[in-house]
Amino acid sequence: MSTDHERFMAIAIEEAKLGAAMGEQPFGAVVVRNGQVVVRTRSLKVSTSDTTAHSETLAIKHATQKLGGERSRIACFYCTCEPCPMCCGAILNSGIKTLVVGARNRHIRNLASRLQLQGLHGRAARRNGRVGRCCNRRRARRRMHHPVPRRERRIDAVRPMQPGAVEQVIAGLKAAGVTVVCYLPDSLLKELYPALDHDPDIRTIRVTNEGEGAAICGGIWLSGKKSALIMENSGLRASIEPLARMGMGAGIPVVMIMSHRGDLGENNWWAIPHGMTMEPLLDAMRIPYRIVDREENIQRAIIDAYAWSHTAYYHSAVVLSGSVVR
Ligand SMILES: [Zn+2]
Repeated sequence: MSTDHERFMAIAIEEAKLGAAMGEQPFGAVVVRNGQVVVRTRSLKVSTSDTTAHSETLAIKHATQKLGGERSRIACFYCTCEPCPMCCGAILNSGIKTLVVGARNRHIRNLASRLQLQGLHGRAARRNGRVGRCCNRRRARRRMHHPVPRRERRIDAVRPMQPGAVEQVIAGLKAAGVTVVCYLPDSLLKELYPALDHDPDIRTIRVTNEGEGAAICGGIWLSGKKSALIMENSGLRASIEPLARMGMGAGIPVVMIMSHRGDLGENNWWAIPHGMTMEPLLDAMRIPYRIVDREENIQRAIIDAYAWSHTAYYHSAVVLSGSVVR
């Protein structure tokens, strides 16, 4: 690890310490371009009451604002601890090519592998040289960037989405004329995302939150193409604002395909609110939806959703549930 990397990592660690002194979680990030620090950030989750205000997302946001999308691609990104999947998504989306990580985080790595982010985490591992000593690894492990509760491990017990169901979703999208899919990975649909990525007729766009995905889908519709937003049903809460503006204000439809988290049989505590809020929110937004729990009904539901949305100029949703996803 070069001395430059150590010098910039030291700045990230300084940010983490300043954050900790303010009562924040002790994580820092630095973006460097041409040997100059562009931004230095610390986690602001506590003071802003914003669970997404990680040091890494803030760094990407400010660096992109400062440098613009193109110029930030050749920047180098330093973070004191291995980034969580949300931050990895932001880093990947920004196009930044070099990531230097202070301390590893086994729990984040396990979660990332389930979310198909192995590529980036593999790259991070190879860059995890001597700089790792700058961070107190044991403390980093104890505190864990974002603790993964033990019960969450039960995800592994869930039966994977069956190949037939994956095929039916893709067949439905193609029959409806969809050529672009925006998605934010979700464990119940995890077999679907690589299949979409490998399909030559569909372009996939990975997004960092579902609101961004909804907005991109709206833009794609304006360009004359058909798109889909694929996500966990919690994404509905995250995308309500752009959905309301586009659907109610401008007549721009977004067709959503979402997993039914929080349905009866759910065994993850964090997913229960997803099930409790999904249908009331869809009703409040007057978004028609169909809950599909049998593989043979998937394709028809997707075709019908596009027919309705492109007649009504309004959103619709297909919820993949029951034996389709577990
Ligand atoms: Zn993060």
